Amino acid sequence: MATDCIFCKIVAGEIPAEKVAETDTTLAFRDINPKAPLHVLVIPKVHHPDAASLASAEPQIAAEVLSQAGVVARQEGYEDYNLVFNTGAGAGQTVFHAHVHVLGGLDASKLFLA
Ligand code: AMP
Repeated sequence: MATDCIFCKIVAGEIPAEKVAETDTTLAFRDINPKAPLHVLVIPKVHHPDAASLASAEPQIAAEVLSQAGVVARQEGYEDYNLVFNTGAGAGQTVFHAHVHVLGGLDASKLFLA
């Protein structure tokens, strides 16, 4: 656990979150400031600063985060969804504990990459 990491504190139960799924190594909870009809974050319980660092250090857990993103989307009723990994402050990352945004219900025609 990293000190002063808000997501480590959610994993530890020290601050509340609306959990939607949990495995031995991952946790999924609703984003506090949703940007889409479905906006869930899937995180590894172990602390790594971003998704690529996680994948380099613990590829099995990175795979489980990705797998759980799909599980959560389908559980929430979305077969189609977007996964976003903001990496670095310049790219909008504000919490430096690896996470994937699971976004459902966005208008695909308005997406940056569409
Ligand atoms: P990022 O900008 O990719 O680092 O995303 C961090 C996300 O964490 C943002 O979408 C925030 O709204 C979300 N967030 C921050 N604090 C909390 C919290 N306590 N519970 C749920 N989501 C949070």
